Amino acid sequence: MVITNGGARLVGKKSTGRAAVFFDRDGVLAIPEIRDGGSFAVRRLEDFAVYADAEESVRRVKALGAIAVVVTNQPDVGNGLVGRAIVEDMHQRLRHMVPVDAVYACYHTRADNCGCRKPKPGMLLAASNDLGIDLSRSVMVGDRATDVAAGHEAGCRSILIARGYYDEYSAGADWVAANLTEAVDHICAYFAAGYRDDNHIERSGS
Ligand SMILES: [Mg+2]
Ligand SMILES: [Zn+2]
Repeated sequence: MVITNGGARLVGKKSTGRAAVFFDRDGVLAIPEIRDGGSFAVRRLEDFAVYADAEESVRRVKALGAIAVVVTNQPDVGNGLVGRAIVEDMHQRLRHMVPVDAVYACYHTRADNCGCRKPKPGMLLAASNDLGIDLSRSVMVGDRATDVAAGHEAGCRSILIARGYYDEYSAGADWVAANLTEAVDHICAYFAAGYRDDNHIERSGS
């Protein structure tokens, strides 16, 4: 497992690396706990489970030649609500369940003001640096506005999976999908079109 605590820097040069698909963990690959209309990371290893379409979705992305990377905020660790070792065990389990290439986790709290906690792009930039990723051809898949923002901040396209428990509907995403399979459909079309999309949002600084 790859863990980073940030140290991110903006990459200004033209990258020649591979495309990646960045997956948020909870609400994208892993099934969150739903309470009071909100979604929360599970805190017990035995409760950790992935969606039925998670493995096939990651396989499809890898069949495109993309690197599959999980980027996840786990502030419950920094807040003392769950042990870091338990979350690392979850990520071990995750890697057995779905064929992702790397997992990056931020264990900080909002108050820590780190560079890796989404919506900051630190984990995506670190992965780009570590794994040779071309961010301009890469896509972030998330279920929150913070995921969409982190993807855009890193120079990627962003897809929001609207799971229904979340009301910040489009969140400025390039595409909105009902589920992971539909998100990967968008990614396949985007890659097939040579990383071009007429409806993409113009961004500066990437
Ligand atoms: Mg999430
Ligand atoms: Zn962090």
